[in-house]
Amino acid sequence: MDRERGSLELMKQINKSIILDTVKLYGPISRAEISQRTNLSPTTVSTLTGDLIREEYIKEIGEGKSRGGRRPILLKFNSNAHFIMGVKLDAKEITLALVNLKLSIINKKNEVLKNRDKTRVIKQVSNLILKEIQESGVKLEKIIGIGIGTIGLVDTEKGIVEEAVNIGWRNVPLRDLIKERFNDIPVYIDNVANLSALGEKQAGIARKAKNLIYLHLGMGIGAGIVLNGKIYEGSNGSAGEVGHTTVEPDGPQCKCGNRGCLEIFASEGAIASRAISGLLARRKTLMKKMSGGSIDKVTVRLVAKAAEKGDKFALEIWKETAKYLGITIANLINVYNPEMVILGGGIVRAGKFLFEPLKRVVRERALPRAAKIVRIVPSQLKDDASLIGAAALALEKTKAFKKI
Ligand SMILES: [Zn+2]
Repeated sequence: MDRERGSLELMKQINKSIILDTVKLYGPISRAEISQRTNLSPTTVSTLTGDLIREEYIKEIGEGKSRGGRRPILLKFNSNAHFIMGVKLDAKEITLALVNLKLSIINKKNEVLKNRDKTRVIKQVSNLILKEIQESGVKLEKIIGIGIGTIGLVDTEKGIVEEAVNIGWRNVPLRDLIKERFNDIPVYIDNVANLSALGEKQAGIARKAKNLIYLHLGMGIGAGIVLNGKIYEGSNGSAGEVGHTTVEPDGPQCKCGNRGCLEIFASEGAIASRAISGLLARRKTLMKKMSGGSIDKVTVRLVAKAAEKGDKFALEIWKETAKYLGITIANLINVYNPEMVILGGGIVRAGKFLFEPLKRVVRERALPRAAKIVRIVPSQLKDDASLIGAAALALEKTKAFKKI
């Protein structure tokens, strides 16, 4: 008997979810049309849309055109019925977004990280969430999940930041520490590269792609890999560490202990230090004047600006960077056969000065069958990618385990 009741309940949840997806996709839509599109009986549609209206996931928005009989009442998805908090934690700041069920950002806040001590960081994140709740006027019970994108190596199952060198964390149970402060709200964490990939998949440039790779090219280099629509975490969460794959077998030593890692040749720091070495060796370049002789001002942004002005040395630096990135991307394309490779992070600022030589290297090196299907594009959501991805993760998990 219990089992029977259980399976009826499950059937009801599945049908509710089918109806909700139909309203999302085709709304405003009448009950009769939902019944036609889903093959569910009019009685079932009527009962379950009643539930969904009570739960505020859908709403009635007036009458549609008559097809002979009474004018039907139209239903629409209520994307502001509930909200999710997306949080991004990096070595310098905390960014937070209040996101609705359509994954649109309603409001965004950020604060400089006041202290790296874990207790203080947790407190600062919690206070920022509370501040957003207060200021937005959204009630706490309307928040159905919190998603956090964090730097470092993450055990997503246990919700632990295993190691984050940049802020000196080891084995910090980030998920549970945040959860404690917000009673029943489910919390999920993952690393920034994975969540950026998910963000682009759910609400950015890769909506139609099933298999994609997001490469974060910043101070570090990491990849988020989405296979068949799901983040690929690897066996113990360490998939996507592309920055530490070898591109020069006898290259200089990397902080990971290996030699000749991609990060040594193509991270933001690597690009800036290549420019600085050139300046110190008195290479002829506009960057000398542009930096006013101050080495601190030689950044990725400056190298990109110099390239725009046609500076030969800057263009050479981008070409060199594109070579190493292109080799790595060609390898990734050969192994994963993705539809899309998305590039995000500070390095993407160089635009065509990076993309053109990089695409050339990929064309030369990737297998033609895999290369012909792939598009290499800049991130559409930019700095918001991981925030939206964090919210998308929380929404996905909450839907799977709890409500609909
Ligand atoms: Zn390394």
